[in-house]
Amino acid sequence: MTALGMLRRRLGWKLLASYLLVILVGAVVLWTTAQALAPAALSQHLALMARVLGERSELGAALFGSVRGAMTTALAVATVAAILTAVAVSLFVTRRIVAPIQAMARASTRIAAGRYGERVPVPSADELGELATHFNQMAETLERIEARRRDLIADVAHELRTPLASIAGYMEGLLDGVMPAQPETFHRAHREAIRLQRLVDDLQELSRAEAGQVPVHPRPVEVRGLTEAAATRLRPQFDDKDVALTVDVPRGLPPVLADPDRIGQVLTNLLGNALQYTPAGGRVEIRARREDGSVAIAVVDTGIGIPAEHLPHVFDRFYRVDRSRARASGGSGIGLTIARHLVEAHGGSIHAESAGPGRGSTFTVTLPAVP
Ligand code: ADP
Repeated sequence: MTALGMLRRRLGWKLLASYLLVILVGAVVLWTTAQALAPAALSQHLALMARVLGERSELGAALFGSVRGAMTTALAVATVAAILTAVAVSLFVTRRIVAPIQAMARASTRIAAGRYGERVPVPSADELGELATHFNQMAETLERIEARRRDLIADVAHELRTPLASIAGYMEGLLDGVMPAQPETFHRAHREAIRLQRLVDDLQELSRAEAGQVPVHPRPVEVRGLTEAAATRLRPQFDDKDVALTVDVPRGLPPVLADPDRIGQVLTNLLGNALQYTPAGGRVEIRARREDGSVAIAVVDTGIGIPAEHLPHVFDRFYRVDRSRARASGGSGIGLTIARHLVEAHGGSIHAESAGPGRGSTFTVTLPAVP
């Protein structure tokens, strides 16, 4: 590599070259201005001395020569000292600045090759430290996304396996003549196919919600209208199962900032779950109350409840408290995950409470109120 090529490719050399350039310009300017100004100043003083001491021209010439010598030596010493300092400073700066940048460059190459566990040391509290911190945060996010992607593929494969195995089982049974070619057999296979279809639809919706691709257009909406609409949609199913459904929204509640379609979808999902997990003769109520700068809408049921250890996970994708029961009812464990994404896209929050098995559950959606 030529000297110029090295200079172009190495930050440390560039720094040193810039220091040397400053020294060179300083020395040249100092030298030329001294050369230009010193003789005139000295001759003035020599003329004065000549008047006082009499005509001694050799003395003047000697003085002139020795001042010039001293100036040249001082300039040479200063230049050498400046060059040594420049080398020392550029070495120090290279170690402090260039080394961390090189470490980040090496780490980013490894991350690009798929090794998301890479992190760099945070060298200092200045901008370089800030860059290293942000670099590490970026690597962490990438690692998390990659882990989520892997989990999702594993989960989806797991979820698809059971209905597919059932359908394959029915078909094989029919082909081998082990199962009777009767409507019941075809119905069972059809049910599994429908379950698969629902799962795929839910997955598509989930991936859109996770990617923030579900359009959400919040506008001021009255809570009463929102809750009544959801209740009206599901009332026939509540009546069929003999579960009472009531709406309790006090007067004077401020409107909320919500996209009625999306929040309607969330409330329908919560009411559907409440109906599904509440036995006949039970009650489900939608309650709303004002909180600091927001309105909380709760769906309270008297159903089977949720054991405390499961509560923190009910919003995780594919999470079902009772796997066999949920599977039998066709639940994919995605509904609440989608609901949480939709509510959070509004700047709101959703959480679940339950006093335990058999003691009902409460799901609360909190949305920002119109100020
Ligand atoms: P699913 O489609 O299985 O209902 P969800 O994401 O809507 O999926 O719910 C996840 C799990 O949370 C359900 O499988 C169920 O175990 C539990 N769950 C949700 N709502 C209720 C409720 N109101 N009462 C009891 N358990 C509930």
